Amino acid sequence: MPSLTLGTERAAAQQPQWEDAEELALAVKELASRPELVKASDCHALRRRLEQAVHGAAFVVQGGDCAERFADSSLRPVLGKADQLRRLGALVQRVSGRESVLVGRLAGQYAKPRSSPTETVAGHGELPVYRGDAVNAPEPHPEARRADPRRLLHAYDHALEALQALRQPGAEVRTGAGDQADEESAAVFTSHEALLMDFERPLVREDRNAGGSYGSSAHMLWIGERTRQLDGAHVHFAEQLNNPVGIKLGPSADPAEVRELCERLAKGRPAGRLTLISRMGRAAVTERLPRLVEAAGPYSGRVVWLCDPMHGNTVPHVSGLKSRVLADMSEEIRGFFAVLRTHGAHPGGLHLELTPDTVTECVNERVQLDEPDSLPRYESACDPRLNAEQAEELVTVAAELL
Ligand code: PEP
Ligand code: MN
Repeated sequence: MPSLTLGTERAAAQQPQWEDAEELALAVKELASRPELVKASDCHALRRRLEQAVHGAAFVVQGGDCAERFADSSLRPVLGKADQLRRLGALVQRVSGRESVLVGRLAGQYAKPRSSPTETVAGHGELPVYRGDAVNAPEPHPEARRADPRRLLHAYDHALEALQALRQPGAEVRTGAGDQADEESAAVFTSHEALLMDFERPLVREDRNAGGSYGSSAHMLWIGERTRQLDGAHVHFAEQLNNPVGIKLGPSADPAEVRELCERLAKGRPAGRLTLISRMGRAAVTERLPRLVEAAGPYSGRVVWLCDPMHGNTVPHVSGLKSRVLADMSEEIRGFFAVLRTHGAHPGGLHLELTPDTVTECVNERVQLDEPDSLPRYESACDPRLNAEQAEELVTVAAELL
């Protein structure tokens, strides 16, 4: 597709320093020759479902690991994650009567933006940071932390394996969805942060039905808080795709930026193409979000507003681990609903980091942050996730507000 630049002439933030340029070129070339991971028609199907969330007819539950591990792409863990999303969707339906749209941080959430390129690990000295399985490995050794371009191909292989698990015949029926309508609402779409240009660009494919191009690595792609620069490669890349795209908006986002993002990513596009994901933190949400919703005003009949109550509420546990307090996250959800409603827009859904595993990474009460033993099962490769019970609690908070 020679007419597309896909942001190549713009600076891309948060890219790894690949250790070997020749290996990288080979991996990129190989990715470009592989079949698409997802079909354009399924990306459009998700866009139509998201349009329902724009109008308040459906509620989005987007969730999964902060950093997905390659080892978890086999049938059992993938179906476990899909089942968790379906249970949360059923909860939304039961409490609010609203349909849900299920989107996993799944089958490709293998790359992480980081606040610092290196970290000091006790006993190991200063090491490059872990950037997700598509780049390096989390073990604290220099060898594991090298940015290995061959991992881009492994990312493709694992995403494919996870997608095949999601698509296996009867995957919906396992969780009790019987008839066709149930099966449609039980569909789990895939999404991840479109971070690694060397993974996303070679997977762009021609959209044969609608014309133009789409990113074939996932149904929905989002751009993170650290890479949403208006003059950067990521936004420019997203502009050239037909997929539903999301943009994370933290407390530093200003109204003019949001207005321009809407103009570049939503104008002239069908409703549901752009999702704005607010991740302000419990205190900032009521203060900072109103001006952003106002700025998006003319586009409010087109964009989905999601609340990510996780990333603005990360706090240190006494052990030094990162944690999050359930009460803070509930408070952010309540603030989000209040702001959206005051401005006549629909709260479109939640964006959560969660796992069906019985982990203890987030805490229920603030006092537990000071208890050395309150996180006995901490397994996340990156940010702290909600366990099944905690996820249900937050989804219930939102569903009751609906
Ligand atoms: C994430 O979703 O894991 C993430 C890094 O979020 P944000 O871009 O909002 O900081
Ligand atoms: Mn995260």
